[in-house]
Amino acid sequence: MSNTQITRPLFDQLMVPNYAPLSMIPVRGEGSRVWDQEDNEYLDLTGGIAVNALGHAHPELVDALTVQAQKLWHVSNIYTNEPALQLAQKLVDNTFAEKVFFANSGAEANEAALKLARRYAQDNFSADKTEIIAFYQGFHGRTFFTVTAGGQSTYSDGFGPKPGDITHLEYNDLTALEAAISDKTCAVILEPLQGEGGVLPICNQFAIAVRALCNKHNALMILDEVQTGMGRTGHLFAYMGLDVVPDVVTSAKALGAGFPISAMLTTTKLASCLTVGTHGTTFGGNPLACAVASKAFDLINTPEMLNGVKQKEQLLRSLLTDINQQFNVFEEIRGAGLLLGAVLNEQYQGRAKDFFLASAEQGLLVLVAGANVIRFAPALNISEDEIKLAMIKFGTAVKKVVSA
Ligand SMILES: *Cc1c(COP(=O)(O)O)cnc(C)c1O
Repeated sequence: MSNTQITRPLFDQLMVPNYAPLSMIPVRGEGSRVWDQEDNEYLDLTGGIAVNALGHAHPELVDALTVQAQKLWHVSNIYTNEPALQLAQKLVDNTFAEKVFFANSGAEANEAALKLARRYAQDNFSADKTEIIAFYQGFHGRTFFTVTAGGQSTYSDGFGPKPGDITHLEYNDLTALEAAISDKTCAVILEPLQGEGGVLPICNQFAIAVRALCNKHNALMILDEVQTGMGRTGHLFAYMGLDVVPDVVTSAKALGAGFPISAMLTTTKLASCLTVGTHGTTFGGNPLACAVASKAFDLINTPEMLNGVKQKEQLLRSLLTDINQQFNVFEEIRGAGLLLGAVLNEQYQGRAKDFFLASAEQGLLVLVAGANVIRFAPALNISEDEIKLAMIKFGTAVKKVVSA
């Protein structure tokens, strides 16, 4: 089949209909720019949903990938491998963690974290210490356990009996947490900034209280940093900007900067309950993924890159504020680093998709987070000029929606 026959309608013909992709098909990318089949150029403020932290086709990542591809792709966990140990060393040296478990997706890292919490409680406390506390609008992936922990029951409904003993509370609601948590709780799982749920930041006081209550009840504090990790908020991990040290952190999305890989980070004490044979994955920690992630780690974890994220946040915020002064569409701009949400005001409730589509018409790729939030998660190395150009395009898109 020649390339010209590969069209968007083929998606509907061949693919399970669980996605609704845009009509254009991207074929190549470079930095924060993407081209479609007709060679139309787009500025990319989606970063592949907070994944492509270093943009498309970063030469050093391409190099790391191709060098490793000539050597060794996969060996299974019957062996360890050099890239996995190198990456694990970097994660341990630069975070609270002492132990690392590699998997392939955010959901799998969270699945491992939740299983660890259940196992640790069983081994060290009691068989009925199984409750997991999670939060409405939270998102932890799509395996049945993680999607049930997620805070939108519509995502987990309709698949039969759900994994049990998961309690959902309002995010940032300390009173609710104090009332719910008990010695039956084995873990509290939360995002340090709810990404999919609307780019909603945690309140530092709430994070501190979660830590204290987890200590009091011997429950693990699991921070899902799948979206916020690897420099996204201007810290290597978002917890580093909060006054807490978690028990478990999960990372995925930007960890491989576009190559699928995830990690669960924890302490030696907690990790000790996952003894040989208790958990595993075929592809987790494969040399190819780890070699790319290891290079991405070096490129992201520099003061220049992380400070750059904070500077670009200021620029993006101020340009969005300018657009809002002109068109009065947003109630607030919220988020952290290069994970920002423009929250639609009363008049534009439910219309995030319209702004998303109008942006695409201007050659600008943005994200939504629910029906009321336009989300921006560009590459961390996007240039200030690209941000300015993107906001000119976005201003035009907003104007079109407002005057339609
Ligand atoms: C994207 C995301 C996940 C799920 O990651 P997958 O790789 O799709 O399984 C989990 N948690 C958070 C916070 C996410 O943003």
